[in-house]
Amino acid sequence: MNVDNSLSPHGGALIERVRPLTAHDRERIAALPRIELREQIARECVNIAYGFFSPLTGFMGRADVTAVAETMRLSNGLVWPIPIVLDVPDAELRTAGVSVGATVLLTHQGNPLATLDVAEIFSLDLTALAGQIYATTDPAHPGVQRTLDYANRFVAGDITLVCEPVINPPFDRFWRTPRQLRAELDAVGWRRVVAHQTRNVPHSGHEYLMKGAFMEARADGILVSAVIGEKKEGDYIDEAIVLTHEQLRARGFFRDDIHRTTALLWDMRYAGPREAVFHAIVRKNLGCTHHMFGRDHAGVGDYYDRYAAHEIFAQLPDLGIRSVLTLEWWYCPTCGSVAYEGICGHPDAKQDLAGRLIRSIISGGREPSPQTLRAETLAIVRQCADEYGFGTPFVTEQYLRQRTPPLTIPPPP
Ligand SMILES: [Zn+2]
Repeated sequence: MNVDNSLSPHGGALIERVRPLTAHDRERIAALPRIELREQIARECVNIAYGFFSPLTGFMGRADVTAVAETMRLSNGLVWPIPIVLDVPDAELRTAGVSVGATVLLTHQGNPLATLDVAEIFSLDLTALAGQIYATTDPAHPGVQRTLDYANRFVAGDITLVCEPVINPPFDRFWRTPRQLRAELDAVGWRRVVAHQTRNVPHSGHEYLMKGAFMEARADGILVSAVIGEKKEGDYIDEAIVLTHEQLRARGFFRDDIHRTTALLWDMRYAGPREAVFHAIVRKNLGCTHHMFGRDHAGVGDYYDRYAAHEIFAQLPDLGIRSVLTLEWWYCPTCGSVAYEGICGHPDAKQDLAGRLIRSIISGGREPSPQTLRAETLAIVRQCADEYGFGTPFVTEQYLRQRTPPLTIPPPP
């Protein structure tokens, strides 16, 4: 067996549950009870249907949620760190007439998205669940708050996508289903693919992170996997994230044949090490053999150790995808260059490349040095501010209200 070949999807087979409606289905669909999905759940429904979440075939039942919470595995023993559930208020279930054994139509933006065969309806102890997944029950943790906000009735069962979403510009250039992306990577001969998870406009530290991981993994290519999903005010707007990464390749800072930017529809849970494992599984399904993890991957505040995500992979030898663990990149004036925590001997002189410095450059009209942020990147950021951000590259209340959603569900035929 050649271990360098692209990995099989998690669990062995890529799940695809897509059967677009025909005009003949109209009557059957019209008679089904309906549940309207909010954005987060609609995105997860799409991800299940196209196999981003392989081997999941639907929203989880109690046995899987409990096993995931307690053991970080599905009830069949396969590694899985975060519950994927559909919560619906009890009153809504009663009004719609949803019961076990029924088929339900899941809608989004008022249009049919998927059918769900209801296998189970159940409740959970949400505080206990939050504590197990996030290692805290502090509602200031956004993942905990998300869990506590669930309507405490869950509907489980397999789903089938009945209407394919339209991915709106500029994300249509970057979004690929796992089947499509695997075929494209195969066509260009990428056998060893290292994933870079991002929610950022790339500064020089990110570039070096990618370069280091590319060399360490002896990779054929770097797959930038930009997380597009729920935003909070002050985050970078999604459009700036994908378009700035793309221009690193377009302008040759990364060779055309070794770098590719993609979009993943996912709402961050900030679950630290558990979310790192989740990111690894999704990128394995996309065809990656390696996943890079830096400092405080998918963490928030001080809830997790800086390198907690590095330690968790030692407990999961059966995960398949390999982790490439990196320390911090910073700017060192003594070295006169971007420097690596594991190499540079002047940690007291280091200048942090993270957040605040880059934001002050972007907001303050200062010309960046190539040691921090490329002028080409800044130019794209400014274009995105004008074109998509209502004048700023950071998420505002107006952006949240008026932006074009990344995903639209068209009306049925
Ligand atoms: Zn140094």
